[in-house]
Amino acid sequence: MTASATADVVIVGGGVAGGLLALALRELGAVVTVVDAPAPAGLSSASALSYGALPGWPLAPTPLARLAAGASRRWRLLQGRHGDLGWRPCRLRVHGGGSSLGALSARLPLPFARVDTAVLAARLPPVLAAADVSCLAGQVDSLEPHPSSGWQLQFRDGTSLQAPQLVLAAGAHCRQLWPALPPRLRSSWAAVLELACNPALPGPAVAWLPARFGRVELERRAAGLGQPEWLVDGGLVPRGTGALLGQHTLVRPGLELGAPPPPAEVERQLRRSLADQAWAAALAQLPGRLHQAPVAFCSGGVPLVGPVVAAPGLWVFTGFSAGFSQVPVLAPLVAQALGAAGARADWARRRLQQLGLGWPDQRGADRGT
Ligand SMILES: Cc1cc2nc3c(=O)[nH]c(=O)nc-3n(C[C@H](O)[C@H](O)[C@H](O)COP(=O)(O)OP(=O)(O)OC[C@H]3O[C@@H](n4cnc5c(N)ncnc54)[C@H](O)[C@@H]3O)c2cc1C
Repeated sequence: MTASATADVVIVGGGVAGGLLALALRELGAVVTVVDAPAPAGLSSASALSYGALPGWPLAPTPLARLAAGASRRWRLLQGRHGDLGWRPCRLRVHGGGSSLGALSARLPLPFARVDTAVLAARLPPVLAAADVSCLAGQVDSLEPHPSSGWQLQFRDGTSLQAPQLVLAAGAHCRQLWPALPPRLRSSWAAVLELACNPALPGPAVAWLPARFGRVELERRAAGLGQPEWLVDGGLVPRGTGALLGQHTLVRPGLELGAPPPPAEVERQLRRSLADQAWAAALAQLPGRLHQAPVAFCSGGVPLVGPVVAAPGLWVFTGFSAGFSQVPVLAPLVAQALGAAGARADWARRRLQQLGLGWPDQRGADRGT
């Protein structure tokens, strides 16, 4: 059966990117549908598994990083409008080789917050419903330009949906839906241990993070990898009534996501690496449940945001290196570029371009530069 969308915009993906973009479009009065596939057994979405860390300082000397450092302001504003989304002020403690950030974090409360992803995952569906966003549960298998205008989404169950404008916010699955996306968009497998109780070291509202995430370096080297590489970053963050411990990252050469790595082997690697880190040695033995998620990233660190030039009406919003900081500040700009008219849309497009995003001419990005 073919359904005709009454929406102005259909978003594929209901993680933090799709969810916050839908809310930003609703603020402009657009009619929005979000389509999200339930995660297969044993897997989560990146958004549900994230540490949700929000450093209040730029992580790089770029205009986008400076803007993203203010993400907490936007989360607070969203919570003011929609109720609790999991944003919390949080004390940061940094471990890792006598870094200046580590020394500073031991002395001063650094400007830091986090989004509790257990709260976000529970609250986002009712918040979207209350904002009049239509949410459909279903796996989109393919996209085709509609013969008259817009796009046609084909679902796994055989049904289809028509979309005047379509945004891919499907994280690591965007490429399966539109293989011609630039090669800088890549994917990895992440895994964390979920602890039922927070071991609260050194306090319940404290995130314990490495001074440098090895994951970021590995993502930068992704295009040159000749064989799969994995590493473990040590971290402990509160989540719900428990905590997330450690972060295992597997990056494979090439552009295909591939199957998740065997969970028993990933858990062994994760626990062994944590046991080798003095601060986490005791934690590495705690009972916990392993969760895995596919993650999209861009090898140059700049997310893939904007229209796909070769496919009118198709947009992409993915590949974030720090989605919980970048998405809330970019979603309102993308919503204006997509859903507003005239001068407001032009202003948003210019602003996105100033931030180094592929706008309005993505031909360079489409060649993978
Ligand atoms: C362990 C870990 C720790 C992290 N820590 C941080 C951190 O501290 N701070 C930070 O800012 N970022 C962090 N990140 C990164 C952050 O989680 C991601 O940048 C962000 O969640 C990406 O969100 P997204 O909505 O783009 O993608 P996703 O969360 O992957 O959402 C994509 C959604 O699309 C749906 N989907 C996919 N394919 C289809 C389809 N064909 N049809 C329908 N639906 C589909 C999926 O089911 C999913 O719900 C972390 C990630 C991980 C894994």
